[in-house]
Amino acid sequence: MRLIDYVAPANLLDGRTIAITGAGDGIGRAVALACGQAGAQVVLMGRTIRKLESVYDQLEQCGAPEPAIYPVELQGATLADYEAFAETLSSSFGKLHGLLHNAGELGSRSPIDLYEPDEFAKVMHVNVTAAFLLTRALLPLLKSTGDGSIVFTSSGVGRKARAYWGAYAISKFATEGMMQVLADELESAGAVRVNSLNPGAVRTNMRANAYPAENPASLVSPAQIAPAYLYLLGPDSRSVHGQALSAQPND
Ligand code: NAP
Repeated sequence: MRLIDYVAPANLLDGRTIAITGAGDGIGRAVALACGQAGAQVVLMGRTIRKLESVYDQLEQCGAPEPAIYPVELQGATLADYEAFAETLSSSFGKLHGLLHNAGELGSRSPIDLYEPDEFAKVMHVNVTAAFLLTRALLPLLKSTGDGSIVFTSSGVGRKARAYWGAYAISKFATEGMMQVLADELESAGAVRVNSLNPGAVRTNMRANAYPAENPASLVSPAQIAPAYLYLLGPDSRSVHGQALSAQPND
């Protein structure tokens, strides 16, 4: 099955709570809206509150379960911040079924010998270390729910590197590594499945920054790839674990 073609049953995510990083824009925004429309209570995580509030309003307007907003700047947040967040989630909702690591920094396109060390550290922190810290803090809650799904966001250059993609490509390889390590550790538990997803080329701000000469109209919209995320976050993917998947064909 091509994941982009998945047709979610009505109310696929009824009764489920799903946390999404970078939920205010691009793919994260579209997946948050799709999850809410499928019945999930969505926890909108991101750094620009105005954008998160706009997603919140849209979810309310379409009759989705009341979402929650968790403002977070992934660059500066610590394990203690994420553990406090986990406690809030536990006391407010008592469960967490899905965690989508979607937020990402592109960094600059530059050869390694000229790549700015500070920028390298920033991209690696936001794309890798923050996902590790958040996963670490939320794993107990995901495990206790008994049917948890963690989705790491990959990229084509995180599976086959290309020149000048620097920290971004390296961080996506690390993301794949984190997915594999965690999947192997959780193999016997069965309560949490872990996979990575490459969305492929999608019409977002990040894509426009990476490919300024490209015609955005030639790309699929974030909403068009949301079914792939619904599949991985919902119960239909219960037996899918430790896989590096692609939303679009030929990626
Ligand atoms: P986007 O439109 O630029 O959205 C990225 C989101 O991440 C934004 O909501 C942004 O918040 C948030 N974010 C970035 N840095 C953050 C930080 N330090 N703290 C908190 N939030 C932060 O990009 P996108 O294309 O939707 O990308 C989503 C994911 O897909 C990324 O992991 C990206 O690597 C991956 N991806 C995208 C494509 C593509 O073609 N679009 C292809 C392959 C992989 P603000 O809105 O506040 O800036």
